[in-house]
Amino acid sequence: MRKYVIMGVQGSGKGTQAKMLREDLDLAHISVGDIFRWHVRQHTKIGAQVKRAMAAGELVGDDLVEEVVRRRLGIHDWNYGFIIDGFPRNGRQAEFFMESYDIDAVIHLELPDDEVRRRVLSRRLCPNCGMDYNLIADRPEVEGRCDICGHGLITRVDDTPEALEARLTDYHAKTRPVLELFRRKEVVHDVDGRPPVDEVQSAIRKTLGLSGYRADD
Ligand code: AMP
Repeated sequence: MRKYVIMGVQGSGKGTQAKMLREDLDLAHISVGDIFRWHVRQHTKIGAQVKRAMAAGELVGDDLVEEVVRRRLGIHDWNYGFIIDGFPRNGRQAEFFMESYDIDAVIHLELPDDEVRRRVLSRRLCPNCGMDYNLIADRPEVEGRCDICGHGLITRVDDTPEALEARLTDYHAKTRPVLELFRRKEVVHDVDGRPPVDEVQSAIRKTLGLSGYRADD
């Protein structure tokens, strides 16, 4: 059973790397942001509560976040473990989490703010199947269409310059201290988030002592 947290500023590739680990290791991938986006799309009560904060790039209240995480992990569909992305994002969430779960490793993807801005502002998403694109590095074959399901691509409502600056400020002020908390427990693995996706995945596996990724072959 593996219990991982993946941390890094928006656009650092957390979601992409977490999905790659999930597929190979049979982990449950838990993205708090994806759960909230699902609620917004489905117009649920939770969706109504988080919509404004999300669009502005602000953090959702801790009580609601903890409830969502508790419920999601309570499903216990993670026989081989989980990788959680986008949580914890501040000291209180980290305390709640550490009280309830033993974490094997925190993967910290490092990316300079300028590279974050470059990546995030060119990010596109398929609202149908969840596939991520980037207009610089990973363009869809047909402009504006998903390669997998053909659905029209969208820009996340919080991938605007204003919302991005709010998220970067929050990340440095609130999320970085969480890393320091985890560092004291000696579970943090720093990984450079700048290389191509496959190379980052290989570096993650190496530092976690997992078998190599196919990019190593
Ligand atoms: P993400 O996809 O991780 O960038 O999350 C998108 C948005 O969801 C964030 O900008 C927040 O508004 C909200 N959110 C996701 N995770 C958390 C969290 N752990 N605490 C508070 N808000 C969160």
